Amino acid sequence: MTQSEKKLEGRVILVTGASYGIGAHAALAYAREGASVILLGRSQPMLEAVYDRIEEEGLPQAAVLPFDLESDNYEQYVELAGLIEQHFGRLDGALMNAGVLGQKAPIEGYNVTAWKKVIDINVNGQFLLTKAITPLLARSEHEASLVFTSSSVGRQGRAFWGAYSVSKFAIEGMAQILAQELFDSYGIRVNTLNPGGTRTGMRAEAYPAENPEEVTKPEEIMDIHVYLMSDESKGINGQQLDAQPKK
Ligand code: NDP
Repeated sequence: MTQSEKKLEGRVILVTGASYGIGAHAALAYAREGASVILLGRSQPMLEAVYDRIEEEGLPQAAVLPFDLESDNYEQYVELAGLIEQHFGRLDGALMNAGVLGQKAPIEGYNVTAWKKVIDINVNGQFLLTKAITPLLARSEHEASLVFTSSSVGRQGRAFWGAYSVSKFAIEGMAQILAQELFDSYGIRVNTLNPGGTRTGMRAEAYPAENPEEVTKPEEIMDIHVYLMSDESKGINGQQLDAQPKK
């Protein structure tokens, strides 16, 4: 790929849940398009493995940012944003992809502690991080792109998907609100992306009886991830997108 063909040349993009699964592939895809990626997740060794891969390919230097989105301490999020500001000065995009599945159980029997953990990570952590990084996105010279990873059960409820489904509905709602608030104020666009069934640890946890060989690989859904971060999707705001055709 020549320099001029790169779609994210010079952009700074935060990817949450970048240690493995869809987020790790998205970070690599963005870097291959010329972006400096900031890799956020809990597992430092796994984030470093993604960092090393980016280095090996001679792509723009990444940054590793170990962080637990279960934290409800807003000061920690402000500190995190401060570190990004210190090193990069701004953000041109953020893929809010980190998430946990929680229990597959009827709401009647759902463990209360497990429920709260899913909501803390999948909803409250997203809110706190979004609030902290909004000033950095507002500094982008492009139409900054904020993408929340959703799910089909965040658009239509499904029995036994409990807190996970509720958390994704909350994300869809938050994204709709932000799409209006941030585009009008700062030109930041906000969309949700449903990856569809994708071959990761979370998918295997949700569907243990499934043959993973029959599930779409994360690499196969990267075009839309790059599209949403790039100027190709300029003007797209407040949309619910799907990475795969609905089955
Ligand atoms: P994985 O379980 O493979 O990866 C989840 C990522 O989130 C990891 O990088 C993990 O890193 C990170 N993460 C989890 N908890 C936290 C936390 N407390 N703080 C920070 N990071 C955290 O999942 P997928 O890649 O499959 O899923 C990615 C997104 O796509 C999720 O939002 C999921 O809901 C959504 N999705 C996935 C589908 C699929 O079929 N795979 C289908 C529909 C939606 P670490 O453990 O290092 O913290």
